[in-house]
Amino acid sequence: MTATIISGKKIAKEIKEELKIKVESLKARGITPGLAAVLVGEDPPSATYVRSKARACEKIGIYSEVIKRPGDIAAEDLIAIIKDLNVRNDIDGILVQSPLPKHIDEQAMTLLIDPKKDVDGFHPFNVGMTLIGRPTFRSCTPYGIMELMRRYEIDPAGKEVVILGRSNIVGKPMGAMLVQKAEGANATVTMAHSRTGDIPDICRRADILIAAIGQAEFVKGDWIKDGAVVIDVGINRINDSSKEKGYRLCGDVDFAECEKKASFITPVPGGVGPMTIAMLLTNTVKSAEGRL
Ligand code: NDP
Repeated sequence: MTATIISGKKIAKEIKEELKIKVESLKARGITPGLAAVLVGEDPPSATYVRSKARACEKIGIYSEVIKRPGDIAAEDLIAIIKDLNVRNDIDGILVQSPLPKHIDEQAMTLLIDPKKDVDGFHPFNVGMTLIGRPTFRSCTPYGIMELMRRYEIDPAGKEVVILGRSNIVGKPMGAMLVQKAEGANATVTMAHSRTGDIPDICRRADILIAAIGQAEFVKGDWIKDGAVVIDVGINRINDSSKEKGYRLCGDVDFAECEKKASFITPVPGGVGPMTIAMLLTNTVKSAEGRL
């Protein structure tokens, strides 16, 4: 079997086209959606993520503001920035790019963001609403995976889903979304992590395997059940002297091996990554619609 490649790039483009129409209609009613990103310090990948989020906003007509501060910013100054964004009428979404410098408590900053503007879906209010299956801002990466499956007509109902990774932004909310008693969910979920024994055997049970651990090409072809769906969240850099940058990107899944066993598989790049941004834009537009 050779797997169908799930193109997050293509689906994200479709979603952005749909959002562009919604943004035009909001603008016709005097509302320009606005997203503010706070970038602290000089971490190059963070700067790249923020730049691509800002560019994606501008392309569909969302006002984007990037607030850059040095890595030695005082916590009180960052708190003041968040509080100001919370009350600004032209800002519908706030994101504080992770990681923050060590002297700043990241969780405390997340708690300060108004849940109504928490378009990353990281605030405990939104996490809790996700868990109980109520409409809310859902964490963008797992939300994007749910949307990918929906648009590729992959129904998780009654399926064994194995999630590798239990982070607060991917693994845990992914499990919460899939286990809901709701259309597009109803899965039986197993969540594995660094303390889990015999991960290969657990993976072999999976009808749908979602890998989000940050370990390059960790999942091997002989861990994949014939015809399983494989979703690769990982973004890892591997040294590669044949590339201009000296590295190449790869996922948590050994793509070449696993695509031979899977029915559907996401590539890296071009799979889950573009969906994360598309869902951030979706949440921002939804927040702006709340102004109507
Ligand atoms: P975290 O580092 O927060 O969490 C990693 C999880 O993987 C933890 O639960 C950890 O276990 C588990 N883990 C790590 N190593 C192993 C192992 N050898 N065996 C089993 N479990 C393991 O990562 P994130 O969830 O933030 O991100 C995961 C990956 O997804 C990263 O590569 C990241 O870059 C990527 N990512 C991609 C996004 C996208 O848009 N495509 C968005 C967000 C993340 P434990 O809890 O026990 O420590």
